[in-house]
Amino acid sequence: MTALANRRVNVDIICPLCRFEPETIMHLFANCSRVQPLWNDVNCQVPNEHDDFAAWFSMWLTLGENGLVMKCIAICWSIWKGRNDLVWNSKTWDPASIMFEVANMVLDWQGDADLEANNNVHVSSLNSLPVVDPGIMSIYVDATVYNADAEAYYGVFVMDSSREFVAAKNGLIRCLNNAHLAEALAVKKALSWVKELGFAKILIFSDCKNVCRLLNGSSQDLSYAGCVIRECRALKRHFELVSIQYVSRSVNRFAHALARATRS
Ligand SMILES: [Zn+2]
Repeated sequence: MTALANRRVNVDIICPLCRFEPETIMHLFANCSRVQPLWNDVNCQVPNEHDDFAAWFSMWLTLGENGLVMKCIAICWSIWKGRNDLVWNSKTWDPASIMFEVANMVLDWQGDADLEANNNVHVSSLNSLPVVDPGIMSIYVDATVYNADAEAYYGVFVMDSSREFVAAKNGLIRCLNNAHLAEALAVKKALSWVKELGFAKILIFSDCKNVCRLLNGSSQDLSYAGCVIRECRALKRHFELVSIQYVSRSVNRFAHALARATRS
């Protein structure tokens, strides 16, 4: 906004996040007190207010290792998106959901990079899948959110302990563009469906660390996603054995492909 003000455009130059400092590029992406927590666990020197943000950013793009570059891009993109949601859609700035979005974005990109690297291995390779005890069904779950269409889809892929295909399902979910909520709703859909199928012992695999952590814990979360997590915990009681485990995106590729395929 300060760039527009310098060109004599009549705009509010105060940062919409902190409502305290002028909104320069450096302030918005690095120095604002509301965005600084996003950079806390990033292993790079965050620029100070006298640096040139563009120069700092392009230095990391050329010198940083892949994971770091992905994270820096995901943080900047999420800050910009969160700032625009606040300004144009009056959506509250929520650092926790922005951090969650950053983590998912990085996992998403890493997963796509893994898939690319594993292209030759393709679907026929089942060796990378976790081993489960006889009598236990492996339920792979994934959700994919299309922000542009405000739609999300889930995919569920069931295998028995000999890694034989048993069943699969996909469909639409209503999640208000919230990736965290979409993953939680996908697990709920999966639990309801495999309960109907009559499986007693199941192992749910998700590539969403947050949802796995919440489902395995007992902490209370009053958000809508928190309500869905509670419903999932209630559904867990219908099974003789149920466990939720995190797997990487590349391992969860069947459910991921199913979720994506729903759209077409
Ligand atoms: Zn600010």
